[in-house]
Amino acid sequence: AEQPTLTLNDGRVMPQLGLGVWQTMDSQAAPVVATAVEAGYRLVDTASIYRNEGGVGRGVRSTGIPASRIFITTKLWNDSHGSEAPALSLDHSLGRLGLPAVDLYLIHWPTPARGRYAETWRALIALRETGKARSIGVSNFTAPQLARLIDDTGVVPAVNQIELHPRFQQRELRAFHEAHGIITQSWSPLGQGTLLDHPVLTEIARKHDRTVAQIVIRWHLDLGLGVIPKSATPHRIRENIAVFDFRLDEADMARIAGLDDPRGRLGPHPDDFN
Ligand code: NAD
Repeated sequence: AEQPTLTLNDGRVMPQLGLGVWQTMDSQAAPVVATAVEAGYRLVDTASIYRNEGGVGRGVRSTGIPASRIFITTKLWNDSHGSEAPALSLDHSLGRLGLPAVDLYLIHWPTPARGRYAETWRALIALRETGKARSIGVSNFTAPQLARLIDDTGVVPAVNQIELHPRFQQRELRAFHEAHGIITQSWSPLGQGTLLDHPVLTEIARKHDRTVAQIVIRWHLDLGLGVIPKSATPHRIRENIAVFDFRLDEADMARIAGLDDPRGRLGPHPDDFN
């Protein structure tokens, strides 16, 4: 089946599903990315802090698919906020990736205690103008922090990549994104694997004759979210993209909606992370 895409607020098109590579070793990243591209993935989500941009780049170049057809996201780490540091940091990422540009460059965390995310956003706007970052966005930003960027610059982030899974559904932030034309991209979409034996999800999986991972990935797609599940295991990498030939029904969606839990967050709160 055709791969679904999302159109960003700058007119560019992003695959809805991609491969996450957090905690994939640099030496492992090249074969993992090659496996994913062969399985049909056209988006890879990395970050300078993952220390595997080199492997990701080698993996992308090892396939028969031109690198320009694969959507690469990377992220600016917390120690490189400011007006000057982002340009150097992106150059370093591009050097490791072996690419002239990335498709999406994100501010990884707002790190409000550093007090420099608005200045950093202005630097990313300038980087988009150089063409080295085709689209720009953020990750782990709260609604007030997004509002600050928009008020300051008039440039709305294309994407906010946030923790989001059936136990932590982020309804309010999703509504804010929708009102402002920001694409929501779900990180830890499988709850880091902790959701995969959930009884409700297991029942839905049986009903559709799918795995729980496929049900959860389908849930993100049916909500219109970007989704970047991580696996380094070839058969799971293939399993996680074999989701374009079925849909959840309203009853399934309602049951999964009921799994939301205010204490379901797995990662740090963005306001506390520096
Ligand atoms: P995830 O929710 O994607 O879960 C990954 C884990 O689930 C795997 O390690 C594996 O144990 C298990 N798994 C995956 N597919 C499976 C399958 N088919 N069957 C059984 N088990 C399976 O967790 P994640 O890695 O935290 O998140 C995905 C990606 O999101 C990351 O790799 C990274 O790219 C991104 N991310 C971004 C941020 C951020 O701050 N922006 C934070 C965390 C993650």
